[in-house]
Amino acid sequence: MKLRSLAFSLLALGALSAAAGRPQVVAHRGHWKPEGSAQNSIRALVKADSVGADAVELDVWISSDDVLYVNHDPSFQGVVIETSDSATLSKLRLSNGEPLPTLDSYLEVAKNLRPDLVVEMKTHTDPKREDVAVEKVIDMIAEKGLTDRTCYITFSRNSFNNLVAMSGRPVQFLTAGSPCALKQIGGSGADYHISVYKSNPQWIKELHDLGLTVNIWTVDTPADIQWCIDHDADFITTDEPELAMELVKKACDQREMKIMTYNLRFGELADMDRIAAEIKAQNPDFVAIQEVDVNTNRAASKHNNGLNYVTELAQRTGMFGYYGRAIDFGPGYYGVGILSRYPAEKIEKFELPNPGNVEPRVLLMGTFEMPGRKFVFASTHLDYSDHETRKQQARFVSEKMTSADYPAVLAGDFNANPSQIYIKTFKATMKDLTNTAKTWPADVPKEKLDFIFAYPPQNFELKSCFVPEPSAKSASDHLPVVSDIIVNF
Ligand code: MG
Repeated sequence: MKLRSLAFSLLALGALSAAAGRPQVVAHRGHWKPEGSAQNSIRALVKADSVGADAVELDVWISSDDVLYVNHDPSFQGVVIETSDSATLSKLRLSNGEPLPTLDSYLEVAKNLRPDLVVEMKTHTDPKREDVAVEKVIDMIAEKGLTDRTCYITFSRNSFNNLVAMSGRPVQFLTAGSPCALKQIGGSGADYHISVYKSNPQWIKELHDLGLTVNIWTVDTPADIQWCIDHDADFITTDEPELAMELVKKACDQREMKIMTYNLRFGELADMDRIAAEIKAQNPDFVAIQEVDVNTNRAASKHNNGLNYVTELAQRTGMFGYYGRAIDFGPGYYGVGILSRYPAEKIEKFELPNPGNVEPRVLLMGTFEMPGRKFVFASTHLDYSDHETRKQQARFVSEKMTSADYPAVLAGDFNANPSQIYIKTFKATMKDLTNTAKTWPADVPKEKLDFIFAYPPQNFELKSCFVPEPSAKSASDHLPVVSDIIVNF
């Protein structure tokens, strides 16, 4: 599931990491498309700020008399910047009427605005002029108090070396090379064209594994912006900052997740390999499991005796496992569990009301840390034998879920049908994220006992719900329920 891949690396970039946890949107040459704006203009800088871009990219040249200018091409209106003096260059006007901006005038405005700066040092014909330019740029950015808000990019190996040696700031190389080679020469990140990453998709992970950041240019279509989000880009450099901000925000506020609930019938009908394979085949983010044994000794499930089902399944599925004991059973325990793709911040077990003094039941409830967000997930298995007990248990569990600190999903075996009052208790405040398929018994299902509920209801959408075909060869007496959901955080 693509949205799960939002495991952004933390950016070791000072102020440039202000919104770490999502890609940073870099307005390429400012926000220059609106009327009255122009590429690399001060207006484009102000516009980038006004649409909330995280950073602004600008291109820097040095004139023959050592004045720094902001412009993309080597020349402007036929005047070559590096061989012209400032008296000549100061007469030039951008398409929106502004003078060709000096870096000084640009930074004077930038220092009072919010976006960080991605400063591109252009490749001059004379490397010695680049050396002067780099020194002057670093000094000027320091004078304006912008050092902590600046990172550098360049195609020039000469400037790259100088920036790495002198700037004390992140330096991203624009000239594409392997992640290892970039690390060796001291780069802090790659700033490559999107086609380079698409041709070498493994580079993104390699860069992150090496502690390097991933900047991608020039990303202008919704599909390409989404590609960058899905591939964990740290920076998206774009001519469409408004669109990119919108898509990035949406991706971070809205996550697709797969939720599964499965009563395991204490392993009577299948061994751990088979049960784990069934879970893994669904690729879930969270699984509520019930009838979960730990170190028991049952005649009915000899092939699983002495095992801790949670650790066995967690290991086989690559998930985190959590256990909630309901009762002692033989030499071990019997209860419920949670498998999660995300680590838990907190796990609590609650004993459920038991006025009928029947077999004790529990709610296992955790707060989980997803990238940039927290999420509550719970597993339960209600009583089946006593009306008052089950009624009180439903009310207790419902109250626990609806008072959770974060969006919350409850899944389990409720030992009740959709029309019964116990289920109505949940439906009164929570959203049912399942379909109508019957789940028990697995060979010829007669009842729907397994549910997934969410709170607050307006934060959740059900995309689809899957219940396998009934079969006499099922791995449990319950069929699992698997729901693809969208959570709006
Ligand atoms: Mg540039």
